[in-house]
Amino acid sequence: MSRKVLVLGEIRDGQLRNVSFEAIAAGKIVAEGGEVIGVLLGESVSALGAELIQYGADRVVVVENEKLKQYTSDGYAQALLAVIDQEKPEALVFGHTALGKDLSPKVAAKLSSGLISDATAVEIAGGNVVFTRPIYSGKAFEKKIVTDGLIFATVRPNNIAPLEKDESRTGEVSSLSVEIKDLRTIIKDVIRKATEGVDLSEAKVVVAGGRGVKSAEGFEPLKELAAVLGGAVGASRGACDAEYCDYSLQIGQTGKVVTPDLYIACGISGAIQHLAGMSNSKVIVAINKDPEANIFKVADYGIVGDLFEVVPMLTEEFKKLKV
Ligand code: FAD
Repeated sequence: MSRKVLVLGEIRDGQLRNVSFEAIAAGKIVAEGGEVIGVLLGESVSALGAELIQYGADRVVVVENEKLKQYTSDGYAQALLAVIDQEKPEALVFGHTALGKDLSPKVAAKLSSGLISDATAVEIAGGNVVFTRPIYSGKAFEKKIVTDGLIFATVRPNNIAPLEKDESRTGEVSSLSVEIKDLRTIIKDVIRKATEGVDLSEAKVVVAGGRGVKSAEGFEPLKELAAVLGGAVGASRGACDAEYCDYSLQIGQTGKVVTPDLYIACGISGAIQHLAGMSNSKVIVAINKDPEANIFKVADYGIVGDLFEVVPMLTEEFKKLKV
């Protein structure tokens, strides 16, 4: 059964986030040969439509309005509901990001639909669209189907591979005019935390530090390793609580969930709450002085040693590989 699927393209700093392309790949599976329509909401964003098409969208609908310059759930929900009203889709796919997690349940509830959140895979089986999602902090996975109404789903970044970009693909980018009324929140200004380099939740490589890093300066070797590998720096809550780094770097049950290709845990004991945020990484390397540390139970490669010796050595070796 083919379906019409809307996929929200998420924009940050004027660029489409990678998770948008992953959501299109998921949307293609859900569509079963039907139409995949990218949706862009913002102030002047239509130029990004072509890229959504190059990644597999058949066409793109853009809602441009000065009230959509900054994300508000009110404003975006109004715009998206107008697109849904125009297009009458059977399914909607979002990235499982801060924005997607906020917007998708609001719009789903308005349409009395359910929501499958944080999907890590999607397939067609037995005539149904079947989503896989983690439960119990990633210790098990469940498969879910929607039996009635619109299919709403969010997909976890870094789990569903985007389609290859095809620069020769073309499609229509149309605009829909929507009057955005009565915003209950108005964003006056956004003050960004100074973060360097790659976005943690989308990084292919994460070098994370725990209390074993011992100080803010102790993170420097980790930053160097992350830079050589083109990755991002993350942290355990232990390191954040000790003020070695900002809470925006926290990975785990009450922090970010990451699924990079490579996760290097440095001086992290492997508490269950930390594992909840990283145990689905594709390859896990743990560096810890304590051979009994719990982190070794989930690690593919374990290095028993002092991180201040091991991390600079790894950095040097990776540098040589790059030359
Ligand atoms: P520790 O447990 O102190 O481990 C430090 C490790 O460093 C040790 O294993 C030690 O052997 C090693 N080490 C020391 N020096 C060196 C060295 N020189 N070289 C190599 N290794 C060294 N935690 C999270 O991370 N994320 C969460 O989201 C989170 N949410 C929580 C929610 C709740 C409700 C609760 C109760 C707790 C939560 N925690 C979370 C906290 C969690 O239980 C742990 O306390 C925390 O993860 C421990 O951080 P750590 O591994 O850095 O520190």
